[in-house]
Parts: sequence; structure tokens; C-alpha cells
Amino acid sequence: MQIQEKAHRILQHPVCDNCLGRQFAQLLSGLTNSERGGLLRTLVAMSVDREHYDGDIDINNFHSFRFHKLESKSKLEKKKCVICEDTFENLDRLVDKVAKAGKKYEFSTFLVGTKLSFELISREENLWERVGIDYCEPLKAELNRELGKLVEKKTKAKYHSRPDINFLVNIPEGSVDIQINPIFIYGEYQKLVRGIPQTRWPSKKYKTSIEEIMAVPFMKATLGASHKLHGLGREDIDARCLGWRPFVLEILSPRKRELNLKALAKKVGKGIRIRNLKLSNIEEVRRIKEERADKTYRAIVICENVSRKDLDKLKTLVGEIKQKTPERVVHRRADKFRHRKLKSLKTKYISGKKFSIEVKCEAGLYVKELVSGDNGRTTPSVSSILQQSCICKELDVTAIHNAKMKK
Ligand SMILES: [Zn+2]
Repeated sequence: MQIQEKAHRILQHPVCDNCLGRQFAQLLSGLTNSERGGLLRTLVAMSVDREHYDGDIDINNFHSFRFHKLESKSKLEKKKCVICEDTFENLDRLVDKVAKAGKKYEFSTFLVGTKLSFELISREENLWERVGIDYCEPLKAELNRELGKLVEKKTKAKYHSRPDINFLVNIPEGSVDIQINPIFIYGEYQKLVRGIPQTRWPSKKYKTSIEEIMAVPFMKATLGASHKLHGLGREDIDARCLGWRPFVLEILSPRKRELNLKALAKKVGKGIRIRNLKLSNIEEVRRIKEERADKTYRAIVICENVSRKDLDKLKTLVGEIKQKTPERVVHRRADKFRHRKLKSLKTKYISGKKFSIEVKCEAGLYVKELVSGDNGRTTPSVSSILQQSCICKELDVTAIHNAKMKK
């Protein structure tokens, strides 16, 4: 079918410039569908058989259907587009609603999508059946784009595939739904006190957590709805973390996004320190969750009786440690058997019943059980080498060797 003939056929019914031009969207770039439709309308109007027409052909109100019906000029009032029902003429009203829906929130990027009625989609499909889909663009694609341009103008925010905010415009209902995307903040923390879990504890056993202490200034600054902490591993509740542990703090539904991260870092409450903050993303959360970093721990060990010389024997622990899931956590984790490398070990004699060890080991090695032996579930152990009962009195993470995370 020739282009002109096709346009003529589409114009058998009242169709707006957008809907006309969209059927030829792939033919010529650099024009909007509306401009393209206007040109085609002119072309068809100029080529109609004037003999059958009883008056001027008014391009602003031309469609050949009316012409063939020989309607009188007075009846040529503008009719609704049979495809979109003049949706494109009413975009400004929708854009106002979008702006209103987003008013409470700070955003510099957005995405806009549309929900169309079943009738609208079928009317477009019926047209395609009549005239073909050779050069067309779907209605939804044009609507999203045109709305996007108008929202950019109205809000000064940028259309972006990874936006701060998503607008979903329900065309038949004329309503707007929003989805606020979270803010992700990367950083590194130190935990300088014992007895705090990393994340919120389900029962009331622990009043607070690293997450809750850390989130306070960020929740205040962002007016977010809630928060989540994603840590690169975690230390035991009673262990300190003196090494800097990478994390991503996620703030859900933030209303403010312009943050002074350096100032916020200083406002974190006692016991927790954070540094190297930067805005981050969900990919970094995944990286942090997957990263298996080596760690260095320092443990204070209480034993029955040792000499400085006994402690030298512990050097033989360097190598592979076989470990079953510790008794203390087996009720909530799978009972697995694992091999973990102990990469280096240093000892320091304190008294006949007390010494410290510093071990560098692979992620996933349970250090308290490395000391105690966990009733034979960890071998070899400090206890098995010294042939006496040993317990880990205090534990600190002193370094997290996250090579991949280093920038
Ligand atoms: Zn239309």
C-alpha cells in the first residue's frame, strides 16, 4: 500500500495527528508523530477529489470520512480521535497530576509509564489490522515519551532509565501512582562496643543494633520510611569490629536526596564509626553480599595452664581447618561440614591461664570454635593442640581484607 493511500484509509475516521503520524513513525526521523501526522493530513487533503466536496477543505479539521459523507460545513465540528479519544490533547492535565503526586519527594531523575485500557489497546490493534503495521510505533511508546518530555519541562528532573522516582499514569482512570526508589549509601563501619547485633533483632533481646544506630541521622536527613543494612559479612554480637567493614545502607522511600554525607557520618551515635561514604546502588549490595573476604581476628583465650613454649605449638594450626556448623548456631543454620584455610597465626603470652592469638583466615571460619574445638566439631583447634580446655573470652575483628572492594 502506498503511504498516501494508507494515510487516506486511516483518515476514513476521525484520527488525531499523533495517531496518524504514529502509523508512519519509522519512515522519517526528526519529526514528532504529531508533526508527521499533520503533514500527511495536508497531503491527503490536497489530493482529494474536490468535485465531491461542497466547500473549503479546512486542514485543521480534515478527515476524508466527513468529506465523503458530504456533510455540510457547519457539521464539521471537531470529533474525538477514534483511536486515542484525544488522550494526547489532555496530556497537560495528566502532567499536572504527575507533578502533584511527586511533590512531596525530592528527585532529579524519573521514569514515566502508562497503563492503557483494554479498549484503547484493541482500537489500536483494529487499526493495525486494517492498515498494517509496517512503519508503526505502539501507542504506549509514544505516550510514555511525550509524557516524559512534558514531565521534564514541568519538574526540571531528567528522564532516566534508573530513576529516583517512577510514575505510573493510569490513562483510563486519569490517576497517577508513584514508586520511590531507595537511596543506597556505601560506607565502612567500625563497631567499638560489644553486645550489639548488626541488624535489628527479631525479639526484644537486644535494644538496638548497628543498623539502627547508624540509620538515625540518615533517616532524619532523608525522611525515609525505613532502612536496611547490607554488610560485608557480620561479626558476632559480642565481638567488636575494629577493622573497617564495608556496608551499604539502604533508605526506603526517601523524601530528601540531597545529602551531606560527610556531615552525616559524624552524627552517627556512640559505639559505631563510619567513613568513606558515597552514593551507591543495588549492584554494590549484591557485590557486598557475594564478597568472601579474608578476615583477621584477635582473640583473648582463657585456658587451664600454658607456658610460652606451649604457645609455639599453635603454629601448626596454619593450614586447613575442618569445621562442622557450631553447636551454638546449628539451630538456625544448616549443619554443614566445611574446610577453611587458616592463613597465619600469631600468639601473645599474657599469663599461665591467658593468652591472645591473632589469626588471618578465610571467610566463614568460626574463630570461637577454632579456639574451643566445639566438642570435636572443629579440628584441629587451639584446645586440641594444647590438650586442654580453652575458651575465647573476647573476640575482635581487626581487619577485613576485601581486595575486590578496594577502589
Ligand atoms: Zn489519537
